[in-house]
Amino acid sequence: MTPLADTHCHLADPKLRPDAGAIIERGRAAGVRAFVSVGAIGSIETDAATVAIAERYPDVYAVVGVHPHDAATADSHRFDRLRDLARSARVVAIGESGLDFHYLHAPREVQEASLRRHLELAAELDRPIVIHCREAEARLVEIVREAGMPPRAGVIHCFTGDAVAAREFLALGFYISFSGILTFKNAGALREAALAAPDDRVLVETDAPYLAPEPYRGRVNEPAYVARTLEVLARLRGSDPETLGACVLENASRLFGLAPV
Ligand SMILES: [Zn+2]
Ligand SMILES: [Zn+2]
Repeated sequence: MTPLADTHCHLADPKLRPDAGAIIERGRAAGVRAFVSVGAIGSIETDAATVAIAERYPDVYAVVGVHPHDAATADSHRFDRLRDLARSARVVAIGESGLDFHYLHAPREVQEASLRRHLELAAELDRPIVIHCREAEARLVEIVREAGMPPRAGVIHCFTGDAVAAREFLALGFYISFSGILTFKNAGALREAALAAPDDRVLVETDAPYLAPEPYRGRVNEPAYVARTLEVLARLRGSDPETLGACVLENASRLFGLAPV
């Protein structure tokens, strides 16, 4: 069976949490050997629930932080609580933080301040950083250059930029993670960018419950569907799913410091 890793999903989301056990089982049955589950959306309770799920399943890992949409809540109180949660060895990264200039649910300067704090926290806690970036590639590169890349590097999750942006992120040391968007019909520029990342820097993810890949588009997404995105990525890169899957699993293990699988 093709080895898989879902390097970005939200198992504590209200759409997934009630069935987390069954969803993890279906993922395992599809070949998923590592689930990287991100809190960050909404309040600190999402982060706490994410860590609790990761503590229950040996192949589920947690990421804690404040989503750019919620950047206005990224105050020192929340950061104290994130530090507490990150004492758990199950917390393998900080995030998702970043910039979303598409939705602009928080003003730019608020998102930028939160991003800087997350970069500092990742360095302080010696964890990689998980970045969300939507229509803000150039500004993100600028801020990371100024603030410095955390020593354990990081990932641009659900990458939606072009090949030029991909190369800039790669030069900073980021991994690039592709989501189900890669399978959508109008994703031409993204498919070009998928060729820009070398084998040892590519990841795949579902971003479940969002962004189900074709042919599941419109449904609630779940980690088992990562197989579909991997297949499309492998075809684009002239590889086969088995080889690329093993490579992605190895990359995820290296970046997040996962236990051997
Ligand atoms: Zn995101
Ligand atoms: Zn996400």
